Amino acid sequence: MAEPLYGSIEAGGTKFVCAVGRTPDKLDPVAVPTTDPKTTLDAVVAYFRQQQARHGRIDAFGVASFGPADVDPASPGFGTILKTPKPGWSGVNLRGAIMQAFGVPVGFDTDVNGAALAEARWGAAKGAGVAVYVTVGTGIGAGAAIAGKALHGKRHPEMGHIFPRRHPADDFAGWCPFHGDCMEGLAAGPSVTRRWGASLSELPVDHIGHEVIAYYLGQLAITLIAVTSADAIVFGGGVLATPGLLDRIRAAATALNKSYWGDDREIGAILTEPRLGTKSGLCGGLLLAQQAPG
Ligand code: ZN
Repeated sequence: MAEPLYGSIEAGGTKFVCAVGRTPDKLDPVAVPTTDPKTTLDAVVAYFRQQQARHGRIDAFGVASFGPADVDPASPGFGTILKTPKPGWSGVNLRGAIMQAFGVPVGFDTDVNGAALAEARWGAAKGAGVAVYVTVGTGIGAGAAIAGKALHGKRHPEMGHIFPRRHPADDFAGWCPFHGDCMEGLAAGPSVTRRWGASLSELPVDHIGHEVIAYYLGQLAITLIAVTSADAIVFGGGVLATPGLLDRIRAAATALNKSYWGDDREIGAILTEPRLGTKSGLCGGLLLAQQAPG
């Protein structure tokens, strides 16, 4: 009997990335633009129906989704998007939609928890007892894998909404619709374009924006080390494509550390780029499919 074949979905605010496969190296993703729930999910289901016909099987699915979402397997709403500013998406049960269409097991977690699990299993955090995955893009999200299990509690972590110390040169009010100047409000992509009129990678290398954003993300890193004792913190997302940013974050984190949680070399080594590239979340979906309860 052939090995099981899995469907993976990384459900994001701008696109749903879909792939079928068995291992991270063979995933060949297709992107479906995120519009209204029906159009988006119809296109996702149509793609997987094609794949199912081509391969003769899809044995389980995994969904690594934007949040906030119900990630409690014991909840009747497991797999549902919770109250979100994204029009039409509040209350949509992504897991239920895939289960209904295909009638096979479907695993579900947040995109960043999925990415943390995948980087801990196959990537930059391989072997880490505590692995944290941070994405910095249109928002800031983070998930954690502890001994190979995603961190959940009452809900899932919302590590982007912590409150940093201000950079002395920064008087931006912050744009988080809930908190104003939380970490996401001060350091996600939109905070850069609203302050300085361009993305971080478009600003000159000597622009103060680089220092300001690295100062905040360095605080995020050192806070995560303080709270979770992470072995690895993987920084992904569009803003991290800015050349030199990860090194600036390492420098900011080591300056804040003052040799407390380890020497500077150790702190710098904890902060890393994803080894699964832009596929951390998609590989998370693959892992969630492999672990989906049958
Ligand atoms: Zn916030």
